[in-house]
Amino acid sequence: ERGRLLFAASVEFLKGVVAMAGLPPADRIEVCFAGRSNVGKSSLINALTNRKNLARASNTPGRTQEINYFTTEGGPYLVDLPGYGFAEAPVAVVKKWQALLKSYLSGRATLRRAFVLIDARHGIKAVDDEILTLLDRSAVTFQVVLTKVDKISMAEREKVIAQVKGALQKHPAAYPELVVTSSEKGEGIETLRTIIATLA
Ligand code: GDP
Repeated sequence: ERGRLLFAASVEFLKGVVAMAGLPPADRIEVCFAGRSNVGKSSLINALTNRKNLARASNTPGRTQEINYFTTEGGPYLVDLPGYGFAEAPVAVVKKWQALLKSYLSGRATLRRAFVLIDARHGIKAVDDEILTLLDRSAVTFQVVLTKVDKISMAEREKVIAQVKGALQKHPAAYPELVVTSSEKGEGIETLRTIIATLA
């Protein structure tokens, strides 16, 4: 109920940030969303916020290296981190983004939880594991959100959940419960809203 109410109110794009100095005042808690390019992050943020295009800006070239801030009414900032694992990105761009990500994760005291999106068809890959390790080192609690579950069978679902839970055991910052979602079908969206709304 709290989740539904929070996201029924208006969610607005605040700004795109390219350096720590550009972060908005740390005057409320925030949650961030991370995941490889194409994992379904924009779709998930749009589903959460009942918008068709809210997170589209962050997917357009030039915006992709920005940390995008969204405000909720009376709730946390929603922070859309740039997608990672994009093979074509030039080394210099990747390095700059890694440095910003590192500073952000270790320097943002109001960051309550990172949601790391994992494609349910693929499970946790090496490139995801790097981010999870960075979250461990930064002492940021993270929770895995499986995306696109509508694309797999129930048997495959059980398998990937077991794989992910196994992989999480070596990550001290991992929250043990996964959120299983499909932005397409709406599955798990209300659950995620409630989790976000009840973080304090
Ligand atoms: P992003 O790069 O992580 O922001 O990924 P997008 O949200 O743009 O999604 C990448 C692709 O996956 C798009 O073609 C989406 O339509 C598709 N997609 C995203 N979420 C889902 C989902 O829950 N189910 C299905 N079947 N496709 C999805």
